[in-house]
Amino acid sequence: MKNFREDFPILNEEVRGQKLIYLDSAATSQRPLKVLEAVMKYDKEENGNPHRGSHTLSLRATEAFESVREKVREFLNARSTKEIIFTKNATEAINLVAYSYALNEVQKGDSIVITIAEHHANLVTWQQIAKKTGAELRFMYVDDQGRLPLEELHKIDETTKIVACTHMSNVLGSIFPVKEIIRKAHEVEAKVLIDGAQAVPHMPVDLQELDCDFYVFSGHKMYSLMGVGVLYGKEEILENMEPFLFGGDMIEYVYEQETSFNELPYKFEAGTQGVEGIVSLGAAIDYIREVTYPVIHEREMELTSYALQKLKALPYIKIVGPPDMEDRGAVVSFVVDGVHPHDVSMILDHYGVGVRAGHHCAQPLLRYLKVFSCSRASFAFYNTKEEIDVFVDKLDEVRRVMG
Ligand code: PLP
Repeated sequence: MKNFREDFPILNEEVRGQKLIYLDSAATSQRPLKVLEAVMKYDKEENGNPHRGSHTLSLRATEAFESVREKVREFLNARSTKEIIFTKNATEAINLVAYSYALNEVQKGDSIVITIAEHHANLVTWQQIAKKTGAELRFMYVDDQGRLPLEELHKIDETTKIVACTHMSNVLGSIFPVKEIIRKAHEVEAKVLIDGAQAVPHMPVDLQELDCDFYVFSGHKMYSLMGVGVLYGKEEILENMEPFLFGGDMIEYVYEQETSFNELPYKFEAGTQGVEGIVSLGAAIDYIREVTYPVIHEREMELTSYALQKLKALPYIKIVGPPDMEDRGAVVSFVVDGVHPHDVSMILDHYGVGVRAGHHCAQPLLRYLKVFSCSRASFAFYNTKEEIDVFVDKLDEVRRVMG
């Protein structure tokens, strides 16, 4: 099998004199050469301001930009490019829906239903909408293994106008039953936003099969540059939403006192977009297609299962999230008994091992689980079992020194 590590030059880096072992892809993934080269080519040959001119470079930039929109449409199986809106990241995409849709559609007496496992991006935003509208913010809770029991779906009822749920938890690694959630929400005519920030890097997403109303993700967790995210929204819903940001490119005609807005998707893309990021997203999609999702999935599941087994064998480790491989992705969070997660992360870094420590932008979840802070190792298909061996060995040393 091809050695995919060769595609990622950064994996040859040394950290503190040690070979880098990068176990933080859930925070941001590394970028393959093909993505970096695509951006370089764009900047060397095509850079201009898209949609702004009729000269050659502006036209080339427009072509580069719009071809990625079509690529994203096909990648997610959306019906139309009108449904694909470029944002800065997943967070901005969620805010766009919150401010342009929810603020106008939700009122006192209504409920917004989310899960306790949401990233702050998909929690604080809805908290603000609930405060502004007087709606109730209702939570679906995970069980003690970090899975979302289907019984929790009874929280979605006739009062519910919006359900916002992560596809895969960035802390627990659990994959949530989004199909059931979408079905239940639609039974009561609520709209559903799925936060796919942790899903798209690891699994194919078919929007027509899912039938959610909105889906969001960030490019930088799926091998592209930072600064680009995607909002998918059903055309008929986006059509009736007000713009989120105002300025150039999102207008049709502007008069002193009045403005008519551009058609979809441009109505939601005010100002000059992060074209390099968008170009890199197109190259990242090509790269995922080349590697293929089945290969990504198989390797990541093998690594996750291996890491789980090794960690569970250590008596001082508590896994935060499902203890087995059922419906879980390539994220393993854990607590080392007697050692603060920041110490775990700092000491591991001395051995070249990068793991994340803290609340992982999910304070309500950790509070609910009574964990407060934990460490997280997250894997991509470019990691190896040998890296996991070093990580677990060094963890043992951390505990010996600090525990
Ligand atoms: N949602 C989830 C599940 C995440 O893991 C993250 C980032 O870690 C986000 C949303 C926010 O992503 P971004 O910071 O790229 O907007």
